[in-house]
Amino acid sequence: MVERKIKTVYDVICPFCGTLCDDLEVDVDNTTEKVVEVRNACQIGTAKYFSSNPSEHRYEKPMIRKDGELQETTWDEAIDKAADILVKSKRPLLYGFSSTECEAQGKGVELAETLGGILDNTASVCHGPTLLAEQDVGVPSSTLGEYKNRADTVVFWGCNPVHAHPRHLGRYSEYVRGYFKKDGRNDRFVIVVDPRNTHTAQIADLFVQVNPNEDYELMNAIRATLRGVEIEEEEVSGVPVEKIKQLVDILKKARYGVIFFGMGLTQTLAHHRNIDTAICLIRELNDHTKFLITPMRGHYNVTGANQVFSWNTGYAYSIDFSRGYPRYNPGEFSSVDLLMRDEIDSSLIVASDPASNFPADSVKTLFKYPLIAIEPHETPTSVFADIVLPPQMAGIECVGTAYRMDSVPLRLRKVKDAPGDCLSDLEILERLLEKVKEKIGE
Ligand code: SF4
Repeated sequence: MVERKIKTVYDVICPFCGTLCDDLEVDVDNTTEKVVEVRNACQIGTAKYFSSNPSEHRYEKPMIRKDGELQETTWDEAIDKAADILVKSKRPLLYGFSSTECEAQGKGVELAETLGGILDNTASVCHGPTLLAEQDVGVPSSTLGEYKNRADTVVFWGCNPVHAHPRHLGRYSEYVRGYFKKDGRNDRFVIVVDPRNTHTAQIADLFVQVNPNEDYELMNAIRATLRGVEIEEEEVSGVPVEKIKQLVDILKKARYGVIFFGMGLTQTLAHHRNIDTAICLIRELNDHTKFLITPMRGHYNVTGANQVFSWNTGYAYSIDFSRGYPRYNPGEFSSVDLLMRDEIDSSLIVASDPASNFPADSVKTLFKYPLIAIEPHETPTSVFADIVLPPQMAGIECVGTAYRMDSVPLRLRKVKDAPGDCLSDLEILERLLEKVKEKIGE
């Protein structure tokens, strides 16, 4: 009989959201290789660790669709069939990559280039506009550690960290005591700009309720007021001019301020123009004080996907290799647009679940063609896949590198073995690439 022992792994990095909290303690039962306790993580981070335990929803062996049903198979057969699908396609889509580690992302780039396919990550439906704006006008930014130690004015615009990044507030931006902000929350003035009275808005010092889709107008009214322009209207975007003046006054008096923004800004009407103007506002605020800006990235390594794609191809997302060299054109080569125009003929979905959040018509196209999913759990995407390749979960069952939302790279730790025959995303993509090369005679 094996003696039941609990091993504790310290300083574990949570692979759920872009905050990448690095202080988790995870207890693992060494007889069953199950996570039994997680300390320091928020509820969603904790849930991810428990989701790694074997369950009816966890894939443990490669699966292949036969007679309409997903059935267990060997790795050799699954890799061979997957490579076959990709090699026979004229326009394969490789999508996802934001919930896996950088080494696997690099292999994904190599595979897309070898296939002459389309390479895209989840930024194309979240912070793609941020990347476009940063390319347009640059970005004055800093690290979360700097904000923790120095920021006295924190603006959350179009984001709700209480729900989406729960420990961001306690570790970096609101309640935390910093080196120069020893009194924590009392040393910070927190502003929320949002159309909804969110839970983050409810704990702010000032809530500015903007009309939906009118952030661009409000941002420019703030910029105009900052320059001394008298606005003739009584309100802009639903915000009284007196409140805009109050806001500008607070921003100017800050000694070190930061705007954190989310999809409430990137995915509303003006898209990347919202971020352009937010960055310009930051530049103008720097005539008066010190101000910076940082996007609240969702998937834990979407920042890494943008970095890895950029250093390999020159572009952060929406990349087409069909001419043998990378071409970049969001709106043309982004996954949703390609699917809406029915311009793919197979897909490889890595660590992502587009069926849960893409428009219904694009999902219909996705399911029309052969679909390969590298995915640890049953998801609305993977249950319709023709081949499922089960990975170890990076940051829980294998090591790897991930970039935090402020572009700081961190090394993910392994806390336990994966169940069944799971391989790491990197090993799966390596085997797939090797088989593809063999089939095309490279
Ligand atoms: S805030 Fe994000 S990174 Fe931190 S524990 Fe929660 S889910 Fe994990």
